[in-house]
Amino acid sequence: MNVPPVMDSSLPPAGAELERVRRMVQACMQCGTCSGSCPNAAAMDLTPRRLWRLVLLDRGEEIFRSRTFTLCSACYRCTLRCPRGLPLTEAMHALQRAAHRGRMRRYRAVTAFHHQFLESVRRNGRVNEMAFMMHYIAAVKNPLLLLRHAALGLQLAARGSLPLGRRPSRSLEALFRRAAEVENAP
Ligand code: SF4
Ligand code: SF4
Repeated sequence: MNVPPVMDSSLPPAGAELERVRRMVQACMQCGTCSGSCPNAAAMDLTPRRLWRLVLLDRGEEIFRSRTFTLCSACYRCTLRCPRGLPLTEAMHALQRAAHRGRMRRYRAVTAFHHQFLESVRRNGRVNEMAFMMHYIAAVKNPLLLLRHAALGLQLAARGSLPLGRRPSRSLEALFRRAAEVENAP
């Protein structure tokens, strides 16, 4: 599949983060097991194996032109199957964080989605679909999304699958704090 052209002047970001990912995958022997194991590989413009090759070659521009790491659903199959035991899911997350911290335009919607999803879980103990969508739409400043998803929302509400009332709150603040400490560890 072709890599889309560079349209984003903020490419590439976060050299330190990329260096951290390079250290995570430096023992990669390009066997391709990660690509063969990934359930989302067919939708990725670069296979995971190719992505790690570009990381090792320090090709930040090509890496952040790709949407591969945004399609990682954190299933951990690649991590479990990599014969070198590399932390590949964590490396995908690190690339997502680099794109987020670099405030790259092309990833704005994806990072807003992740951020609002996690904020909803942090606030409610689980995702509150209605509040999450409203915050997400406000974050990406695209009211057309509201129209696009209105019919589905009404269908779900009619079936009782979209609770409109407030859910009991169970804060996961301590868990999120610990995750941030681990992520920010050198
Ligand atoms: S499975 Fe591991 S060693 Fe094989 S290509 Fe993927 S990252 Fe490299
Ligand atoms: S953790 Fe991500 S990259 Fe690895 S196999 Fe699952 S979806 Fe693919």
